[in-house]
Amino acid sequence: MSELAANVPRFVVVAPLGRDGDLISGFLNGSGYPAACVGHVREAEGIDCAMLLGLIVTDEALLRGGIDALKRIVHSQPVWSDLPVILLTSTATEPGCAALASEARLEVRSLILLDRPIRKEMLLSAIQVAFNARQKQLQVRDAAVKQFQSDEALRKSEHLAVAGRLVATLAHEVNNPLEALGNLLFLVENSSTLEEAHSFGQLAVKEFQRISEIVNHTLKFHRAPAKPSFTDVAELAMSAVTLFRGKLRERHIRERITSERAFGYCNEGEIRQALVNLIGNAVDAMREGGILRIHVMPVSVGGVEYARLTVADTGAGIRKEIRPQLFRQFFTTKGSSGTGLGLWLTRDIVERNGGKLKFRSRTESPSGTVFVIYLPSTPPVEQPKSVQEGGQSATFQKVAAAM
Ligand code: ADP
Ligand code: MG
Repeated sequence: MSELAANVPRFVVVAPLGRDGDLISGFLNGSGYPAACVGHVREAEGIDCAMLLGLIVTDEALLRGGIDALKRIVHSQPVWSDLPVILLTSTATEPGCAALASEARLEVRSLILLDRPIRKEMLLSAIQVAFNARQKQLQVRDAAVKQFQSDEALRKSEHLAVAGRLVATLAHEVNNPLEALGNLLFLVENSSTLEEAHSFGQLAVKEFQRISEIVNHTLKFHRAPAKPSFTDVAELAMSAVTLFRGKLRERHIRERITSERAFGYCNEGEIRQALVNLIGNAVDAMREGGILRIHVMPVSVGGVEYARLTVADTGAGIRKEIRPQLFRQFFTTKGSSGTGLGLWLTRDIVERNGGKLKFRSRTESPSGTVFVIYLPSTPPVEQPKSVQEGGQSATFQKVAAAM
């Protein structure tokens, strides 16, 4: 390959016969388009797609496995890429080239055909079209990467915010039974009979169990495996509610938990975070007390099995005019005590786990809000992409649509 700085995107010319390759790449370099030439399409396969502005291929380069290498390049492109290919055809080349050129036309979406001998202006204008199209693709990719990175930073910051709130809750929750435990031990110490000491001791054990239960559920939040697995959603819901029990008592919120055994194939830690977000919102919505309903059951929708998880509150409801903004980043009505990331992240998490998040709300009496998470009970048929890849391609679709 002719010398070019490694980090410069370039056109790659594949022309195995004669001096065509050198002449074309020399002409492109002279016209301000970085280009290098190779002897076989296979050599272009090793180049990072982002470093390719386009391929200029003579039809005889499609012989001897060239068409297969071209297909591999085209089919392995990342989602943002639509690599321009300029195919130089000629009636004078080996038989079979025409058929391969037709095959290339079917396989490559951005194919420009040029008949040889080519006029320089024709080649230059085709190169210009390819270059502009490629620049646009690279811009969309850069914007998508930036968006993805800032989304990632927000995900992390919301995770930290939730963790911070949990630590505060933990201290608060542990404090009450700890105080009770201290009092009970004092009573045991000062009991006049063994029987009296025994009954105080029994109560102390209960308080102790309560503390260890709170600590365990908080630890689960941080220790959940990072990979999807079959998760007992009812147990997950119970565990998440445990973290709020003190707050529920303080606010005179009654809990109604009804659950049937239902499994979701999901990332347990992520769903726990989504649930903590929803329950936290429900608790925030019931400042004057109310009822928190949590319901888990297996359901079948269109032949697909799901675990359905409902979090409902009897708060004031969500006004119609703010509903379209609920899932936007930073939308909050809680001033500095809210982050406005909870619902955005909750929907993101649920969708990343192959599920759906729905809600309904009413502000007129009896008011309240219901959030429902559907989690698929079985793994996806295809191997799921890594979160990073999947997230990036979803971000790419959004950014590309907006540009
Ligand atoms: P935050 O809780 O930090 O405000 P969220 O994204 O979790 O951010 O929620 C965004 C907004 O949606 C809240 O500020 C609130 O106005 C509204 N909201 C969410 N859940 C409920 C609910 N259960 N009842 C009433 N309003 C809600
Ligand atoms: Mg919230």
